[in-house]
Amino acid sequence: MKIRFWGVRGSIPAPGPDTIRYGGNTACVSIHPRAGGLVIVDMGTGLMHLGNALMAGAFGKGSGRAALFLSHTHWDHIQGLGFFAPVFVGGNQFTVWGPGGSPEVLEEILEGQMDPNFSPLQSLKNFSASFDVRAVVCGEPFEAEGLRITACEHAHGSTTALGFRFEEDGRAFVYASDVGQPVEGGGPTPEALAFYRDADVLLHDTTYRPEDQATRRNRGFSSYEDAAAAAVAAKVRRLVMFHYDQDYSDDDVDALCASCRAELDRLGGEKIELVPAREGDELEI
Ligand SMILES: [Zn+2]
Repeated sequence: MKIRFWGVRGSIPAPGPDTIRYGGNTACVSIHPRAGGLVIVDMGTGLMHLGNALMAGAFGKGSGRAALFLSHTHWDHIQGLGFFAPVFVGGNQFTVWGPGGSPEVLEEILEGQMDPNFSPLQSLKNFSASFDVRAVVCGEPFEAEGLRITACEHAHGSTTALGFRFEEDGRAFVYASDVGQPVEGGGPTPEALAFYRDADVLLHDTTYRPEDQATRRNRGFSSYEDAAAAAVAAKVRRLVMFHYDQDYSDDDVDALCASCRAELDRLGGEKIELVPAREGDELEI
């Protein structure tokens, strides 16, 4: 499968001259299975750019189909939806998988951001494409777009978010963003480590330097140290850094990357390849 990054920033879009190299859009990743099909993970503002690119193909003609996975419904993971051009083309079909425990609850949350007080779109019902909303059940593998998928819930401060493991032909890509233990030294849970185990690629948020995490613990994000510890303990092949704090410049992210490399080496993870996610970059596994 191929993995492409459309938005790699955390919490709020941060465009500008200081973030131009890594990009300022919020979370959105596309997965292109070898067998065809399209999977999209999270609907941050990066989704707008993915949508514009998709319009050149089947989605521009109303014959596109994709599965959308939502880790959670904080703004930086849903705000791209109303700006995703393929939803305004009749005939396109989307299956949305996410949290909430039931399709009705998830649909109501998504409907909430279209409320006339927040958006001129007023309602999801004004979209021309069809939406099939489904609630994810953690621990129960299912199939979408030819991939085998498992979900696992993790702490995200005082709330939770979903991680996803996507598998094809024995290769595994794990998406685990917005991972934050509410207490210091919480570390990856045994359940999380089992979920990440032997992944070809673990995408994990590296939102903070440890000193910034210490003063913003309640926001529920990982430092690069947390991500490195999880990658080494779970014996993954590649660690993708993701969801950089909105206040970090490109130079700050370069420094974050160097520190994360040093931390991996210190923990015995010298063989783990480290990839800082950057808008427009692509990985193949
Ligand atoms: Zn986020």
